[in-house]
Amino acid sequence: MKHFDTLIIGGAVMGSSAAYWLSENTDYDANIAVIEPDPTYVRSSTALSEASIRHQFSQPVNIKLSMFATEFFSNFHAHVQVNGEAPELPFHETGYLFLATADGMENLIANHEVQKKCGAEVILLSPSEIKERFPYMHTDDLECGSLGTKNEGTLDAFSLMQGLKLRAKHNGVEYLHNRVVSINVDKSKGLVKEVKLDSGETISCSRVINCAGPRSKWIAEMVGLKLPVEPRIRAAFVFDCREELKGQTLPLTIDPSGVHVRTDPPNFLAGAPPANDSEVDPDDFEVRSEEWEENIWPVLAHRIPAFEKIKVTSSWAGHYAYNTLDQNAIIGTCEKLSNFFFCNGFSGHGFQQSPGVGRGLSELIIYGKYKSLDLTELGYDRVIRNEPFLEKAVI
Ligand SMILES: Cc1cc2nc3c(=O)[nH]c(=O)nc-3n(C[C@H](O)[C@H](O)[C@H](O)COP(=O)(O)OP(=O)(O)OC[C@H]3O[C@@H](n4cnc5c(N)ncnc54)[C@H](O)[C@@H]3O)c2cc1C
Repeated sequence: MKHFDTLIIGGAVMGSSAAYWLSENTDYDANIAVIEPDPTYVRSSTALSEASIRHQFSQPVNIKLSMFATEFFSNFHAHVQVNGEAPELPFHETGYLFLATADGMENLIANHEVQKKCGAEVILLSPSEIKERFPYMHTDDLECGSLGTKNEGTLDAFSLMQGLKLRAKHNGVEYLHNRVVSINVDKSKGLVKEVKLDSGETISCSRVINCAGPRSKWIAEMVGLKLPVEPRIRAAFVFDCREELKGQTLPLTIDPSGVHVRTDPPNFLAGAPPANDSEVDPDDFEVRSEEWEENIWPVLAHRIPAFEKIKVTSSWAGHYAYNTLDQNAIIGTCEKLSNFFFCNGFSGHGFQQSPGVGRGLSELIIYGKYKSLDLTELGYDRVIRNEPFLEKAVI
């Protein structure tokens, strides 16, 4: 039977980041395999992501994870190059603009204070200041806006994943084209022993990391653990607007209704949580066009009147690995099964957290503790205690 020290289940951006950080660390000299059933990744959350990064969160740990991603992305080529080659990771820096009516103002200001303390480059804008920068925006019903002036915008999730994966492979990580169908546990020792694959093969391992995205709760079920993570559909609509928006470039703007919109040059892109936001079948990728007609477009046309005349040119749907407890990541191991690692529940912010989470997991595995950024607050313990660690700035 083949044996790997670390087996990573799922090889998209999280699995590849964990593989990258483990294989880069010279204190860890052991073999690693990544098991991935779909090397095209067409239906992974990673490939279907809107791939944006922001420093505007309510929890310091989330702000710091994104700040580390900014640092990592700015030196991406040096970090992942193989023989001088690496995928391009261009950054379209537009900022995020969170808008608030009277109801949301207190929350926005509280978040802003946390962000400033962490060193994020954010400013609060009054409705007239919003209007001055973005004259095409309707602001009469607003009380306040929070704008990221640096380090926020859009990149390319597929390139990030490819860069991490190619470098990990170069470092000796094996990618196995297969699917995990069950996991054998030694109950007396409280340890995962082996993983069974779709091909019929069984592989023994010293530990596993669950990076199966929206399907991760079924991996946890295989070892008898409950994970409050479910696939929830999120659609993105790309549209063309003939009228020029005169003023500062439209940032990734989050309307108080929850609808978000950003530039997607030469077009625009918008999305929102669906009206009926509940678990979907992991193979359901159908775009609900009524969401556009009934929930998204009316909000866009209200906020930016030029968007009354627009044409949808394309759309797609992907899945959030939605953490029903608190919409935050679940990272690390648990007492019951000390060699089973969670890397799950990223909801709508896993792309930007992948560099910091992969680094954190590698530290936990190699040194038994976090060394750079403490991710303890994102541990599985809170799931057992049923104590949410709420992120208030979610999209
Ligand atoms: C529409 C949309 C917009 C988004 N926008 C943003 C954004 O702007 N910014 C941001 O930070 N995040 C965003 N996200 C979230 C982000 O894309 C995800 O959090 C991130 O990609 C999660 O990566 P992952 O590797 O955990 O999961 P995935 O990319 O889903 O990868 C999981 C992998 O596990 C594999 N797998 C599943 N079952 C098994 C099994 N049994 N055995 C082996 N492998 C298995 C799958 O094939 C898949 O490749 C968005 C997501 C969506 C859907």
